[in-house]
Amino acid sequence: MTKPTPSKVDMEKLVSLCQRRGFIFPSSGIYGGLSSCWDYGPLGVELKRNIKQAWWRAVVQERDDIVGLDASILMHPQTWEASGHLQGFSDPLVECKSCHLRWRVDDLAGDSCPACGGELTEPHLFNLMFKTFMGPIEEEASVVYLRPETAQGMFVNFENVLDTTRKRLPFGIAQIGKAFRNEITTGNFIFRSREFEQMEIEFFVKPGTDKEWFDYWLEERFNWYVKLGIKKENLKLRQHMKRELAHYARACYDIDYLFPMGWAELEGIANRGDFDLVQHAKYSGKSLDYFDEETKEHIIPYIIEPSAGVDRSALAFLCDAYDEDLAEGEPRVLLHFHPALAPIKVAILPLSRREKLVALAKQIYADLRQCWMVDYDDAQSIGRRYRRQDEIGTPFCITVDFQSLEDEQVTIRERDTMNQIRLPIKELKTTLTAKLGGEDLFVLPPGGRIWKEGESG
Ligand code: ATP
Repeated sequence: MTKPTPSKVDMEKLVSLCQRRGFIFPSSGIYGGLSSCWDYGPLGVELKRNIKQAWWRAVVQERDDIVGLDASILMHPQTWEASGHLQGFSDPLVECKSCHLRWRVDDLAGDSCPACGGELTEPHLFNLMFKTFMGPIEEEASVVYLRPETAQGMFVNFENVLDTTRKRLPFGIAQIGKAFRNEITTGNFIFRSREFEQMEIEFFVKPGTDKEWFDYWLEERFNWYVKLGIKKENLKLRQHMKRELAHYARACYDIDYLFPMGWAELEGIANRGDFDLVQHAKYSGKSLDYFDEETKEHIIPYIIEPSAGVDRSALAFLCDAYDEDLAEGEPRVLLHFHPALAPIKVAILPLSRREKLVALAKQIYADLRQCWMVDYDDAQSIGRRYRRQDEIGTPFCITVDFQSLEDEQVTIRERDTMNQIRLPIKELKTTLTAKLGGEDLFVLPPGGRIWKEGESG
């Protein structure tokens, strides 16, 4: 992990905001927490769902060459022999505390990391997979593992997907799901935990076209983060050095993000060649090849794998959105979430708790909830309520005032600029749809006008 540019975000402040506002809690907190496991609270779960939805939309819904899959977490133990994950049980390994590369003790010349010179952990005869037993008897024959990556579920279903969808190369399978790794070194909040979620694509291509598809996916995945609001200067591509590459990998790049602790991997993109299908064919005895209609040949496709972490993405989106500024001379904390990721899209804020006003505000609340996650807040001053919404990244607040009862109009306030417009209630849904889609606030709906702070009626 190199650290050429300091991040502008303080991790402690972010962790405290996440806990205080209900994004992320330590797991089993009432028992003192469980190391490196985290619970996503009411806002965190929305953020995570939105990240997963944005990913699924970009890689499955909007494409015709990728289909989805949801394979089980427990897989036949031979899967892990074929993939090479079981080998770590027999080799004592050490891990570098700074770059996290693992080394076999017998391969080391000195007592520091050969890649970065960092400090090494004690040697362990360990495997990163969590082991458990299937059925009531705890014996060697019933051992199964919690998957350490979602990828293998897609490799072993290659033929099923091919046969049922009749896809032709190039095509991909995408999956989102939990993965478990008994990491030796954890930390940095949700950056590295023992239970996490991955969003992975296995993209099958004809050998010879792999280089081109690899470059395509590097660009595609990098741009996905940028489109969702991550600043370009906080992202970079890092090519793996030869010694970092798995023996089968033909090329690998990481998309690194400038986290508060320095640059670190957000997503890995690898050209895995034909390794996975060859291995699974060998261990299962089933043919996993593909008949190329053009050349009338049986081939083993190559695989390009963009592999992202949901939790690491959530941390990157939180870090990138975090900001502090002044609002009417008072400090405010805000999260500049892209509207697609914001846990709450709109907040309804009635100016008073008087019955008539509440009835109207609740009616608007019920109506908008049909479309989005909406919050309703009538506690304390309007300024305080704006601050609360800014701090959780709500893009728009709607204020309902006494004038609303007469003219059937309300105001919309935008989080980042604090600009406001007033508009007819009947235009709210279409206007919010347009604004959440990125339209400028001052593009006015019929009957709408720019609103000045403090203006009445
Ligand atoms: P690292 O070197 O940081 O441990 P890795 O190279 O082992 O990561 P991959 O096997 O490439 O990670 O996994 C793909 C993605 O899954 C990573 O880019 C990351 O976003 C996520 N991921 C992997 N391990 C963890 C973990 N322990 N906690 C949270 N996310 C993880």
